[in-house]
Amino acid sequence: MTSAHDRILAAVDRLFDDQVLFLERLVRFKSLRNAESAAQDFIAAALKERGFDVRRIRTDAAKIGHHPAFSPATVAYDDSWNIVGRKISTGGGRSLAFNSHVDVVPAGSENRWTSPPFEPRRDGDWLYGRGAGDMKAGLVASIFALDAIAQAGFSLRGDVQVQSVVEEEITGNGAATLFAEGFTADAILSPEPTDEQLVRANAGVIKFRLETRGRPAHPREPESGQSAIDLMIRLIGHLRRLEADWIRQRIGKPLFADLPNPVALTIGTIAGGDWIASIPSDCVAEGRIGFYPGEDPKARAAEVEAFLTQLRTEDPAFAGENLVTLTWVGVMQAGYELPEGTPAEEIFRSAHAVAHAGEGLKSYVMACYLDAAIFAVHGNTPALVYGPVSENIHGIDERVSLSSLKRVTGTLALFAADWCGLDED
Ligand SMILES: [Zn+2]
Repeated sequence: MTSAHDRILAAVDRLFDDQVLFLERLVRFKSLRNAESAAQDFIAAALKERGFDVRRIRTDAAKIGHHPAFSPATVAYDDSWNIVGRKISTGGGRSLAFNSHVDVVPAGSENRWTSPPFEPRRDGDWLYGRGAGDMKAGLVASIFALDAIAQAGFSLRGDVQVQSVVEEEITGNGAATLFAEGFTADAILSPEPTDEQLVRANAGVIKFRLETRGRPAHPREPESGQSAIDLMIRLIGHLRRLEADWIRQRIGKPLFADLPNPVALTIGTIAGGDWIASIPSDCVAEGRIGFYPGEDPKARAAEVEAFLTQLRTEDPAFAGENLVTLTWVGVMQAGYELPEGTPAEEIFRSAHAVAHAGEGLKSYVMACYLDAAIFAVHGNTPALVYGPVSENIHGIDERVSLSSLKRVTGTLALFAADWCGLDED
């Protein structure tokens, strides 16, 4: 007599070729910001075909912009759809929501990829493609984990949701939309690429745009002008002091104390000037900075604002009229810590062990924004973040390990089975 676990893992195995084909189809969708709707149609159709009750909910700043989980948005959300597939159970078990994001970051210089980033390529154990790891593999794993449970001849006693959201890579407003609309559960599982480890804590993050205003001039009289680009470089230099200050604060925060840079002020974009032989009048840079769980993102934002004001008295280059404009343009969210020993974690730990031939589950700190924070911080919901081994996410030649993906799919399926409870069909 084979156990329910064995039957479910055998079903994961049987379905895995189809799962990889499905993942390849999903990677082909170039689901960059504000261009996710074709991928979301694909997911909605797949969920519908599997008997889920499918809802499409648009990210709508006018409707939920006041919600504390919502972050500043600078784009129109006309075509920004989130998908939820639900299966309502009458069994009385605990409910579970799988939360994944379908948006991906741009590929960068496509000619530096070994093969085109939106044409999935298999090479041995690896599947290459932008978003393959972060996190289309996880999204697909949640769907096929539930398929495996059904194929093994079981149904779940608790309600289950598959959420596919937009905006994770910039504001978190897709997950915030679903949260504000009441799509939560007794536990959240977000299969981000974590190398088969559980995320113990993440960082709070705020994202900013800085504009410097220079005085344009002809290079024959450079002293009459002031370069906005030079000002920006100088400003970034000052911000490194703020970053160093925030890094030092990791002392006394046990989970973060060993990380070399848990706050990571990164400048992601910069543009300035409009003519090769003019002293530039304008420069714009965008970036992000992190901070520690338990801290108010608005207080951290106010600290950055005060730092810039202070600069006007400290550095003559910024004295006089204000030459710097700061705008908050993306996620403004607190970090979370997953408390040790919750029932969700205990059940997850044993699911991982069964799918990994007894190997224990490791946990670690991921010092970046995660949509799981929306549910953990604003809903006080146990939020487990755990997914496959991947490499080069947000980089060149992003790839996900297929053997890892199969183990992760098994782990997700066993967790759903044991968390929600099983009925034999
Ligand atoms: Zn991600």
